[in-house]
Formats: sequence, structure tokens, C-alpha cells
Amino acid sequence: MLKVEHIGIAVKDLASANELFSKLLNTKPYKTETVASEAVSTSFFAVGETKIELLEASAPDSAIAKFIEKRGEGIHHIAYEVADIEAEMERLRAEGFTLLNDKPKRGADNKLVCFLHPKSSNGVLVELCQEIRTPSH
Ligand code: ZN
Repeated sequence: MLKVEHIGIAVKDLASANELFSKLLNTKPYKTETVASEAVSTSFFAVGETKIELLEASAPDSAIAKFIEKRGEGIHHIAYEVADIEAEMERLRAEGFTLLNDKPKRGADNKLVCFLHPKSSNGVLVELCQEIRTPSH
């Protein structure tokens, strides 16, 4: 694991959460993005080396909607940046963690991601992420 890449926070209303976090962090989100496959709208704030990702459900059956229904707004996941996501998935699988994806999938912010079941990590949903490197030419 390289670093905590970001912390994901589930919110009911992205627009008002963006305003609140803009005041809290004294900076605007550098990006907003909808991930249709996950039924979420996201925004990202840079905080030094790491980021805060706000997540709002964009459909009633979104995992974020279910999370908020069950646990209310709050910290949803911690994302760790890895250099080689496939190797890290293999390592964690061998260590007995429950992976929610068989293969890395495309996430927000130009990342390949994989989630670990919170039951296998003390109640905290873990995201592994690896930057998608696009050739410069
Ligand atoms: Zn995330």
C-alpha cells in the first residue's frame, strides 16, 4: 500500500455537502463526476497528499442509498493507493480477506478499484485503487 489515497464520505445531498466542505476545507472541489455503473455522483477535494470524496446516491438502489438508510451519513470507505492492484488483490485474497470484485473495475477519478468486504476489515469498507496510466503518446 502506498498511501491513503482518499476517504469516501456518504452524503444525502451533494450540492449542500459541497458547500459545507468548501467552507470546512477552504477550497472548492477540483472535480465532480458521476459513475453510472455505481449509481453515484461524486466530488473530490484535495487535502495535501490525500483527498476527500463525497458520494451521493444517484438512484434509490445505489449502494450509497442503502448505506445511508442503514447507518446514516458519514465515512463510507477508506481508499488505499496501490502500485499493482492485481498483485495486491491476490495477496489480500491469500491473507483471507473477502474481495467484493473478482477483477479490478473502473472507478471515479481515473482509477482501477476493488473493494474489500467490511466484515473482513473491522467494519470499514476498504477500497484499493490504482491510477490508470495513459500513455503520453
Ligand atoms: Zn472511493
